[in-house]
Amino acid sequence: MIDLEGKVAAVTGGSSGIGLETVRLLLAQGASVALCARDEARLEGVRAQLQDEFPDRRILAQACDVLQGAQVQDFAKQVQTELGPVNMLINNAGQGRVSTFADTDDAAWESELKLKFFSVINPTRAFLPQLEQHADSAIVCVNSLLAAQPEPHMVATSAARAGVMNLVRSLATEFSPKGIRVNGILLGLVESGQWHRRFAAREDQSQSWEQWSSDLARRKNIQLGRLGRPEEAARAILFLATPLSSYTTGSHIDVSGGVSRHA
Ligand code: NDP
Repeated sequence: MIDLEGKVAAVTGGSSGIGLETVRLLLAQGASVALCARDEARLEGVRAQLQDEFPDRRILAQACDVLQGAQVQDFAKQVQTELGPVNMLINNAGQGRVSTFADTDDAAWESELKLKFFSVINPTRAFLPQLEQHADSAIVCVNSLLAAQPEPHMVATSAARAGVMNLVRSLATEFSPKGIRVNGILLGLVESGQWHRRFAAREDQSQSWEQWSSDLARRKNIQLGRLGRPEEAARAILFLATPLSSYTTGSHIDVSGGVSRHA
């Protein structure tokens, strides 16, 4: 796809799902990759597996909670020391919250807004001095279609996602004189741990994954009739993180299988 030999990427939430497939894709193109997540044991297992798959690549995995500014600063410092200054930052860590306005209390609002904003703010602040050292740097924020098309059963997540979409545009404007592009992807439903857990708890245990997930796709009006796969999100991230998208900043790619109703 693109030669990333000599380039360095940092991926938050790289131990699972979309983050992990993004790490794989970047390594496959020749990049050195740093990944972080909170669960140290899972992270180490993933690092060992990736090093087996890509024996010639440089991989750094460090436990880090993106909501803890000091931990993120320490992660960034370690990346620069071991791999060199990053060219690509992928802000991916996080999860959604299912709750309506009626059952979202102040603490839940604060925690959701903090997660969505500071999972972008902390890594962006920590890696900015490194991104500034290259002429072709990029930041990609993994966001959800909820940013443009809110769902009442995910009220806080939807509102926070809209704020992050707006933030991406501000960062793109502020960083463009430095040559740093900032973009996002808007996901619909992508197969990951949360959907496999819901499948395991399905009412009709005789349903296969294919039957269960195509019913879900029908109920959610997904035009392509199925959930997305993590590697499909990863390919959009790769495009935005690299000079493949050299004339694109402040924008979002829809990776929702056609569930979008917005313009
Ligand atoms: P997964 O649960 O498979 O992966 C999430 C990753 O983020 C894990 O590596 C997890 O590791 C890490 N993580 C979570 N919180 C933190 C934290 N505070 N600090 C550091 N790492 C953290 O989820 P997906 O791959 O599905 O999701 C990736 C992103 O895409 C998320 O931001 C999610 O909200 C978003 N998204 C996903 C959708 C989907 O349908 N899958 C839809 C819309 C958006 P650990 O728990 O060890 O920290």
